[in-house]
Amino acid sequence: MVPFLSVLTVLLAIGLVMQVIRNRNLLRSHGADQQRQKSEHESALRGLESEHFAILNALSDPLFLIDQEGMVVFVNSLGADLFPHRSLLNQTVEAVFYDDRLSGPIRESLEHQADVTTKVILPQQVSQSGHSGETVWIINAGPIRSDSSPNLTRVIIRDATTEHQTEQVRKDFVANASHELRTPLAIINGYLENLLDDDMLDDPGSARRFLTVMRKHGNRIARIVEDMLVISRLESGEAGNLKMKPFNLEACVQDVCERLESMINSQRAKVCIKGQDKKLILLGDRFYWTQVLFNLVENALKQNPKVPLKVEIGWEKTKDGSLQIWVRDNGVGIPSSDLPFIFRRFYRVEKHHSQIEIKGTGLGLSIVKRAVEAHGGEIEVSSTPGDETRFDMTLPESAIVLDEEKDRNPSLAGRK
Ligand code: ADP
Repeated sequence: MVPFLSVLTVLLAIGLVMQVIRNRNLLRSHGADQQRQKSEHESALRGLESEHFAILNALSDPLFLIDQEGMVVFVNSLGADLFPHRSLLNQTVEAVFYDDRLSGPIRESLEHQADVTTKVILPQQVSQSGHSGETVWIINAGPIRSDSSPNLTRVIIRDATTEHQTEQVRKDFVANASHELRTPLAIINGYLENLLDDDMLDDPGSARRFLTVMRKHGNRIARIVEDMLVISRLESGEAGNLKMKPFNLEACVQDVCERLESMINSQRAKVCIKGQDKKLILLGDRFYWTQVLFNLVENALKQNPKVPLKVEIGWEKTKDGSLQIWVRDNGVGIPSSDLPFIFRRFYRVEKHHSQIEIKGTGLGLSIVKRAVEAHGGEIEVSSTPGDETRFDMTLPESAIVLDEEKDRNPSLAGRK
């Protein structure tokens, strides 16, 4: 059964609307001598009517009432919003819903006087939740059974696009995660078979070589699982997942550069820190900010082993008070066709990985995006391959600890 939260309210309100319709019919049959009473009744009825229509208009789902001939006799305001600039009342179901996939189940309910609930996927539409492309609707149509009123059929249409997409993302995640884990597991199992079944244990040289490869792939599995757990913690949105404390941004950046020092040195890359205010104190979870900056700088290094690479990590307060943090490099860059997908889980630029060994989990930028968003910020990427690739993060003013607060609490101005 479809979880229509408001079904009880709908039925109640529909009952009241039908009462209004019935009372109207009664009034028509009154004689002329009852004019005064009639006008009193009419004004009371109008009050009742507007109250009941207000209830139906307040429903969170579009609602239509259809008569026996298949004509629309009532539509609430969300229903009218679905078809802007069109008159809907006294139109047939087919004229209003236009698409057979929508009008079909309603006709079926009318003809068989039965409840019909169905999910309809429409391509190239814009849904109420603002999604464009494929949209998903759940239609629930059914007769309203009553002894005293005209036979009406209620039609409730719910926009299920967001749920559908979330479900799709979850399915893709499970499929991608299984795929990513399967490769290193198959390699480990292959080497284990060699070691045990082919008696390689008697050959210490080969055994050591096999075990080294197995350790590498074991580490890869551990890293994928660790990254997935970080994403899941960030996505669960629990407030306790972020340990918000003031910390010095420059110290965090230095920390990241130290961790990547051997890679920076072996590639002879130049890394420059360009912070407008070296004493800037950020209110955030330093663990996640270290991870964000680490992933971005490591990506620049990983993708450009041969390029004479320059990486810049910088920050500045903008005129509107927000904080801009960026990481940019002059490496091979990201093709424009890949840019829209770069923050997706497990997404890698095909061009960067077809010839060489896969270097990352494909989860680094997903973690970066979710961590920035968990701090109330946004991240954007732009790239001109071979010239400049930039990741720009914008944080709200509330993320900066102001000087007055530092004065009140001098320990905040410390660097570590
Ligand atoms: P990975 O773990 O594979 O690095 P990410 O999510 O961090 O995964 O990055 C996704 C892909 O984006 C990378 O595989 C790489 O192809 C591309 N990429 C990210 N940053 C850069 C960069 N600075 N320069 C070029 N390509 C990049």
